[in-house]
Amino acid sequence: MFHCPGCGARHAWGLRAHQCPTCAGPLDFALEEVAFPREAILSGPPGMWRYAEALPRFEQPVSLGETFTPLVPCSIGETEVWCKVETTLPTGSYKDRGSALLMSYLKELGVEEAVEDSSGNAGASLAAYAARAGVRLKVFCPGSASSGKLLQIRLYGAELVQVEGPRPRATEALLAYEARTKTPYASHLWHPFFLEGVKTLAFEMVEQLEWQAPGTVLCPVGAGSILLGLHKGFSELRRAGVIPRLPRLVAVQARNVSPLHRAFHQGEEDVARAPDPQPTLAEGIALPMPVRGKALLRALRESGGTVVAVSEEEIAAGVRHFGRAGFCVEPTSAVVWAGVARLDRETGWDGPAVAVLSGHGLKASQAIISLL
Ligand SMILES: [Zn+2]
Repeated sequence: MFHCPGCGARHAWGLRAHQCPTCAGPLDFALEEVAFPREAILSGPPGMWRYAEALPRFEQPVSLGETFTPLVPCSIGETEVWCKVETTLPTGSYKDRGSALLMSYLKELGVEEAVEDSSGNAGASLAAYAARAGVRLKVFCPGSASSGKLLQIRLYGAELVQVEGPRPRATEALLAYEARTKTPYASHLWHPFFLEGVKTLAFEMVEQLEWQAPGTVLCPVGAGSILLGLHKGFSELRRAGVIPRLPRLVAVQARNVSPLHRAFHQGEEDVARAPDPQPTLAEGIALPMPVRGKALLRALRESGGTVVAVSEEEIAAGVRHFGRAGFCVEPTSAVVWAGVARLDRETGWDGPAVAVLSGHGLKASQAIISLL
């Protein structure tokens, strides 16, 4: 069942729109019942689909063999954290969790053609799952997106439309095309099924920590789909009695585009557009205004979390530090290195702490070359 937090409307399974047909706000999706039967989970395949009783059912799930991603201990400065290495998913980013669910849903509805806009990773991921589902996909990307991500989109057979100018220009071009053609918008920013997939990140962490919740989880935040997916997943685990409380969720933003950081620390209830966004190495989170700003602020406050904003120098250093520790991550993901160091100095945290390594560095090799 889809539910609109904005106007309270409910919409049944089968809805094609990416937003509330009544008020045009972002929709939530919730299953009536969610369960975590441990024996059945342990006997399932290693990966997100083993949590079948906490996921929507599809006649033919669209899958590329998403496996369990590793949870690896790593020293960041003086601090020991667990790195959740999402780079091992089929297209090299956590987005595959959301794409698998979203494409499964669209395929079930009989959708044959869809559009998407992306800074790169979501477009690459949706293109792979669209190929798997037999859905034609058109992806609008900023002209400045990393060549590795654009290459993936083309390789998987999607039609790539490069739009010059900052990230929001790609969205404007998509909306104009969608209004003209009425093609379904397979939006990783809007569609609640994307978060429905990303929530499995929380399930895996808890299982890998022997059914204990982490104390703190850090992740990069632009649109905030990791943070919202984690909040949904941990909330469902708490409601089912698997964990006693939510971990502290910590959003890490690039200081150059940090609207959530400003809104959180000024005590706002919604996130205003960043007044003067500047270019950042962290292209995947260079979004001046998230679609689900209110939900992000609620998730942070409910979990006792916070937002930190890191400089371009810190992001560059994070890429190099992760490399020396054996992890090849893109600059967007590397923000969590400085995020950990900042938390350590400023507010402390509850352990065990998990840092989400969201995307593979080879996707952004041109940017990384200039940092070595
Ligand atoms: Zn509504």
